[in-house]
Amino acid sequence: MHEYSVVSDLVAGLLPRLEAHPGKVTAVYLRKGEMRILSDYALKSAFEIVSQGTRLEGASLEIETVEARISCPKCGYAGKAEYLDDPAFHFIIPVLTCPECGAEVDVVSGRELYIDRVSVELPEPA
Ligand SMILES: [Zn+2]
Repeated sequence: MHEYSVVSDLVAGLLPRLEAHPGKVTAVYLRKGEMRILSDYALKSAFEIVSQGTRLEGASLEIETVEARISCPKCGYAGKAEYLDDPAFHFIIPVLTCPECGAEVDVVSGRELYIDRVSVELPEPA
């Protein structure tokens, strides 16, 4: 399962960064570009498994979707990507051509996948 390896990598990268921050991790916020073909459900299930036995155990994974945006080098169009809704793939696939002139466009956003922030409950003052 692709989501599993993605989440393992994210968690492995996050844990060392949490060492300087004591307290209970309550939520992990993942920014996911909408062009990433990853299932939210599978990401959350994978997180539950991968976080077991770590400081992230019991934290919730909150997924925030980043809209796909494109810009056209030819005519200067900038905006949201248009979508081809192909039921055969069960995914919504962005069309990477300019809606104005048909040229190939640059993807400005929509391919992100990173942990944006983490909620930590500070320990009670002694
Ligand atoms: Zn264009």
